[in-house]
Amino acid sequence: MNASNPIIVPRSQHCISRKQIDVDTLKVLNRLHRYGFKAYLVGGSVRDLLLGRQPKDFDIGTDATPSQVRKLFRNCFLVGRRFRLAHIRFAGNKVIEVATFRRQPEENELPDNQEDHFHFVQNVFGSPEEDAARRDFTINALFYNIADFSVIDFLGGLKDLEEKRLKVIGDPQVRFVEDPVRMLRAIEFAVRLGFDLEENIYRAIENHRSLLATAAPARIREEIIELFRHKISGAVLRQCRELGMLPYLLAGYPGTDEGIALLAKLDQRTAAGMPIEESFAIAALYLRLFMDSFSPADKNNITAALHQANEIISAHCRYFSIASGIRHQARELLIGCFRLARGRGFRAEKRFLQHPFTPKALELFCLWSQVRPELIPLAQNWSTAINNSPTGKQQSRRPRKRNYRKKSK
Ligand code: ATP
Ligand code: MG
Repeated sequence: MNASNPIIVPRSQHCISRKQIDVDTLKVLNRLHRYGFKAYLVGGSVRDLLLGRQPKDFDIGTDATPSQVRKLFRNCFLVGRRFRLAHIRFAGNKVIEVATFRRQPEENELPDNQEDHFHFVQNVFGSPEEDAARRDFTINALFYNIADFSVIDFLGGLKDLEEKRLKVIGDPQVRFVEDPVRMLRAIEFAVRLGFDLEENIYRAIENHRSLLATAAPARIREEIIELFRHKISGAVLRQCRELGMLPYLLAGYPGTDEGIALLAKLDQRTAAGMPIEESFAIAALYLRLFMDSFSPADKNNITAALHQANEIISAHCRYFSIASGIRHQARELLIGCFRLARGRGFRAEKRFLQHPFTPKALELFCLWSQVRPELIPLAQNWSTAINNSPTGKQQSRRPRKRNYRKKSK
């Protein structure tokens, strides 16, 4: 297909109705259009609407520059030093993101510093066609034009949507080197949508998977959190393991069958409506490694458990610059599981039952018991004990021991 000759699908021939588009997004699109600018819905929202799914967010692309956008909207703020975007704010902390069409810069326009490429590439303004071409997959490069309600397809994304195929724009060997995070996104979208990866993606991953270790940890962290939010962490990490990506993605994560089965159970829990917290996800990732890290002599050694939990969680949190609060919670969850696994009747059990992290640790332990059925009776026993124990609040009313020396000075 000739890229400069897009397929334009008129309103009568596609399923996207304005009723499905968020009202504030429509206001922004209409205003840009009224003032003579191109105004398109772009990226994931067009893909999801065409698939009959609810988009997570609605992003807008326009040929207005960020400062032109700011002049049109009173409630507009320009954000990002490197990646200039217009944020238009609405009631209830709602933000609509408006990005000016961008293009891939020429080789001689790139900054010397290789690390700056990804940001720089996103910051050179271009035409809608160029903007489509700099995106990752054909199905993520569709536009919905507010001027005539048509869908614009420069790169064959509509056919790929129809045929449930994930296709990289351009040569994956080049695009994955340019931005290794795209390798992870490829697996993520294929699993999320139930699409097949184009054959050339497998080869490119095989050649370039080690580059994942050079990607900005903050971006990998964000994509990993997305996996948990979309309830696909087990399926995606299983595929990453099969494609040899895990050591470069999550260096300390062994990705055993049981560990991955636990993630699949966690995904089911999220699908059932339980919110997913990052600390819980991290603890689930490393639970199996943690429990296997003790020698038989240390099976009851809480000092060893504290040490191991600290080592394992700290390595992950240091690499991804995760805040100490989350690190602390993840560590407590592992320690809680260690205590639960020791069985009932240990010293200080009463205090443990009332510890604020214990119910969460038990949730994780129960998930684990679903993949290791011999733990089910113990998990049930603990559940009964915790349900019958007084809350932490009641416990804190217990009179404290006096310090006699202080009292008598
Ligand atoms: P989601 O439903 O998860 O939000 P999405 O397709 O909107 O899916 P985002 O991560 O929000 O994904 O990115 C928005 C759009 O930006 C994508 O649809 C894609 O066109 C483009 N994009 C995102 N990341 C990259 C990347 N690494 N390289 C090229 N284009 C990208
Ligand atoms: Mg999005």
